[in-house]
Amino acid sequence: MEFARNAAPYRDAEARLLDYEEIYTEHDVSRLTTQGARCMDCGVPFCQSNEGCPIHNLIPEWNDLVYRGHWRDALDRLHKTNNFPEFTGRVCPAPCEGACVLGITDPAVTIKNIEMAIIDRGFAEGWVVPEPPDVRTGKTVAVIGSGPAGLAAAQQLNRAGHTVDVYERADRIGGLLMYGIPNMKLEKTGVVERRVKLMEAEGIRFHASCNIGDGSNGSVDVRELRANHDAVLFATGATLPRDLPIPGRALKGVHFAMEFLTANTKSYLDSEHADGNYISAKDKHVIVIGGGDTGTDCIGTSLRHGCKTLVNFELFPKPPADRADNNPWPTWPKIFRVDYGHEEAAKRFGDDPRIYSISSVDFIDDGQGNVCGINTVEVEMRAGKFENVPGTEKRWDADLVLLAMGFLGPEHDASDPLGIEYDERSNYKAEYGKYATSVEGVFAAGDCRRGQSLVVRAINEGREAAREVDSWLMGSSQLP
Ligand SMILES: Cc1cc2nc3c(=O)[nH]c(=O)nc-3n(C[C@H](O)[C@H](O)[C@H](O)COP(=O)(O)OP(=O)(O)OC[C@H]3O[C@@H](n4cnc5c(N)ncnc54)[C@H](O)[C@@H]3O)c2cc1C
Ligand code: SF4
Repeated sequence: MEFARNAAPYRDAEARLLDYEEIYTEHDVSRLTTQGARCMDCGVPFCQSNEGCPIHNLIPEWNDLVYRGHWRDALDRLHKTNNFPEFTGRVCPAPCEGACVLGITDPAVTIKNIEMAIIDRGFAEGWVVPEPPDVRTGKTVAVIGSGPAGLAAAQQLNRAGHTVDVYERADRIGGLLMYGIPNMKLEKTGVVERRVKLMEAEGIRFHASCNIGDGSNGSVDVRELRANHDAVLFATGATLPRDLPIPGRALKGVHFAMEFLTANTKSYLDSEHADGNYISAKDKHVIVIGGGDTGTDCIGTSLRHGCKTLVNFELFPKPPADRADNNPWPTWPKIFRVDYGHEEAAKRFGDDPRIYSISSVDFIDDGQGNVCGINTVEVEMRAGKFENVPGTEKRWDADLVLLAMGFLGPEHDASDPLGIEYDERSNYKAEYGKYATSVEGVFAAGDCRRGQSLVVRAINEGREAAREVDSWLMGSSQLP
């Protein structure tokens, strides 16, 4: 009642566009303790319920500990439920805040800011140290994929005493934490690799540049992997992008978002872009098709390259400013939001880059096989279907088009040889809470099981799958 919400600001948009450093500002302790004081310690804290935080972080407890200045205790509380608060504190969309009880009448508590500050303080004070197990069980587990699901599972299984090998086909560990989410949102060396090094010190063995498949084309045969480990966990992500098969799709300059984002981060980390091994948006008319985090990251990256113009197409209409009647508290608020990339685009070009209710008709050829534009039409939802609005056809200049329309599911190269069954959406079939696939001793967690989702949900699945694997190996499990 005494204090208003006061979220931590990002760095000034103009200044941060000049580099790839994180967009966050230094933590302001007095702001954080004041914001912690806004938490009402509700009898039923919806923020940590199923509608709120997917890993059930003990939010009111650490809010209060921060308010009282007990940062070390707050860190211990936070690590009880979250293996990697330094990731979620930076990139989580914070469904907890959508379910905060204060949010019924006032803006929610700044939960995510407080989470990030607790873990950053923990690292700065040297409180976060490797926690190797006291005893080894003699059992071995192979984890395929090193995104948040694989990392969370690996850490939990290692803590249960199993010997864990993590296999990753990319040259760096981290999955989309490394090669999806850009450096300005989640720092690679200082944040992602810092955690990977800690996990190595705990005894987890990481195998980068190691593609698991059917044994052909240099891949490691998954059947051999299964034979050499007591259990296998697939955490391979939802890596198949949704395409836009309209005329001109094959033109040069039309790319999947991940081709653009992955190469950009790799080149940045390898050589600060000096090697030129990335798709540059410099001086180009860029059109990003599709919203969401991937679209925003394409916007932020294109702006940093120095694009000439930038437009972001969204098929759906603009969301409302406030919750609609069919979207009540404590469900996730489907409202209009301005993410970091939108703010930056507005700063550089004077306007929000998003165009709503628009559909791409075809890509235009410059006569030499390069894309030079897109023809579009406005759409309207009628009887549950998008229909074109006559007379709204428009032509847009574009010499770089980035497709950010989501992902269809996991690849099957490593699962087919084992005969794993799939669900109707082509994900690995494994019941939520059980994580066992149709093949004995083989489990699946994260985006490869549930479809594309969030870092925090991947951590949740990795933790829970670790408990199921441990139970399967040992007959019971002490893991949370
Ligand atoms: C561009 C982008 C931005 C995003 N931003 C956010 C965000 O801000 N906040 C948020 O909460 N979520 C965000 N997400 C979603 C989030 O990153 C994912 O939901 C999450 O990473 C899924 O975790 P995972 O462990 O299941 O899979 P992933 O992180 O996808 O990791 C899977 C790993 O498995 C590896 N792999 C696959 N097959 C094989 C194989 N055969 N052999 C060896 N390795 C293999 C892949 O190389 C990959 O590294 C974003 C997603 C994208 C694409
Ligand atoms: S992990 Fe996400 S949902 Fe959970 S407390 Fe942190 S910001 Fe909120």
